[in-house]
Amino acid sequence: MTNYEATSLRDRLCGSITSSDIGNRLTVCGWVAKRREHGEHLAFVDLRDRSGIVQVVVDGGVDVRSEYVLRVTGTVTARPEGTVNDKLSTGEIEITDCVVEVLSAAEPPPFQLNDRVDIDEQIRLRYRYLDIRREQMQRNLRVRAKVNTALRAAMERQGFCEVETPMLWAPTPEGAREFVVPSRLHPGDFYVLPQSPQIAKQLLMVGGFDRYYQIARCMRDEDLRADRQFEFTQLDLEASFVTQLDIMEFVSQAVLDAAEAATGERPTTIDTMTWAEALDRYGVDKPDLRFGMTLHDLSDVFEASEVKAFAAPTVKAIRVPNGSEYSRSRLDQLTERAKDLGAKGLAWFRVTDEGLDSPLDRFLSDVERAAVRSVDGAQSGDLILVVADEYVQACKVLGALRVDIGSPPVSQGPHRYVWVTEFPMYEGLDDEGNPVPAHHPFTMPHADDLELMDTDPLAVRSQAYDLVLNGWELGSGSVRIHRADIQARVFASLGISDEEAESRFGFLMGAFRYGAPPHAGFAFGIDRLVAIFAGEENIREVIAFPKTQSGSDLMTGAPKAITERQIRDLRIRVSPKV
Ligand code: ASP
Repeated sequence: MTNYEATSLRDRLCGSITSSDIGNRLTVCGWVAKRREHGEHLAFVDLRDRSGIVQVVVDGGVDVRSEYVLRVTGTVTARPEGTVNDKLSTGEIEITDCVVEVLSAAEPPPFQLNDRVDIDEQIRLRYRYLDIRREQMQRNLRVRAKVNTALRAAMERQGFCEVETPMLWAPTPEGAREFVVPSRLHPGDFYVLPQSPQIAKQLLMVGGFDRYYQIARCMRDEDLRADRQFEFTQLDLEASFVTQLDIMEFVSQAVLDAAEAATGERPTTIDTMTWAEALDRYGVDKPDLRFGMTLHDLSDVFEASEVKAFAAPTVKAIRVPNGSEYSRSRLDQLTERAKDLGAKGLAWFRVTDEGLDSPLDRFLSDVERAAVRSVDGAQSGDLILVVADEYVQACKVLGALRVDIGSPPVSQGPHRYVWVTEFPMYEGLDDEGNPVPAHHPFTMPHADDLELMDTDPLAVRSQAYDLVLNGWELGSGSVRIHRADIQARVFASLGISDEEAESRFGFLMGAFRYGAPPHAGFAFGIDRLVAIFAGEENIREVIAFPKTQSGSDLMTGAPKAITERQIRDLRIRVSPKV
């Protein structure tokens, strides 16, 4: 028997009692999950606590209702033959000869807590304290706790030291909108809530903490989605005197430990591919390796094609297994989607025993037809989708269609991890023609590409890497710039003037003048990781008190007005609501 179950008020957890306890008299506490009358003087109560349910048989009846909190002392007895319940861990026994004490009465709950019927999420969030009594939420939050424990243990084992960094701080350079907090003592000035501990952890490296980690809360004022909340939790880490391979190994160990703790199975491999390979084969920078449908290049075949639709630098194709059965309207929808994604069009070919079935078929040469017919080993019954465009555009459109069509639900295994390396340094140009950093501006360019920074910035690769799980970006990291001359070049390439660099990041650059070790780091989202382990599509399901899509907390009513007094103290002015 595990003695952590016992407290001054109870001996055991409800769900832990088994036939080996038969004959013992013991005390349990919990909530009334269900109550059934049997004749006039016998009541069956299912008593629930975090561990499960035990059946309590009360002679003489009791006046209890759903969700009353009880303390029950009774004798563990074998259930009469024919009443054993195989689905319950406690299904062979019941507690009889009971003394029942009502610790707390309860109003009828606004929704049923026992079953798995679909409950409106608004109601669940409004009464979140009841919602988290449900088995699914209990399980999810416990998976999360196990993941946190495993991550901490993995980092400690690898020699990392946990350091807490400030919540009230100066701006951080992750590129998202920031939450600001007015200062009472410095009227008119504001703190900024951290988008990440990025600068703090780099300062810790200067400070000689050569392996730092933190389970860190980060705040970003961005529109919410299924995989995004205003505040989220990261495993954040940084290390000195390392290369990107060292960081990838530290993180891999932590993630594999977390996976084992959460699922009972340790994944055997984490793949690695470059960003360029990911784009070429999957059309995205977060490839889902659970399924095939990879992109195939037909550019050579169509180079001198007569077909106008294929007159483009790149022609790429994917094979949709059994896609021939798609109706015309489904194919039209896919074409619309491709156009929404920026394609000029989408060519489709049903693969048949005879060849291809498509309005475009009669325009193809024999060589072209044979090439389309054999994309990815196509079989009769498959569908081939073809996009012709500039290279990146063709890849991205097909990559998005591949995910739309083929992506399995989150709950469907296996878990396929992949490191994506050598991200481009810049993701494009802004309106003023300055390159926009793909990661933050402290990311080290690839050593071989320094020369390109002035001549062809968009071709510069960085020493940044992402970890991807089943098509979800878990997190990113990079080798950082620790040399003032390279940092100055990167700032200049971003159009950040010396004055602006000084005012925004002067303290970091100042710190670097006092001996900055080469360093690199990473951060990944624990909410996303746990959601995948728990098989949940939405990270709200693994967060105790999340916000709705529109950023509200339905339980507390936040965000809401503050008092006049608070407004006065902060010396801020609030415009009337529009
Ligand atoms: N600070 C980065 C982020 O939050 C991660 C890193 O570069 O370590 O995405």
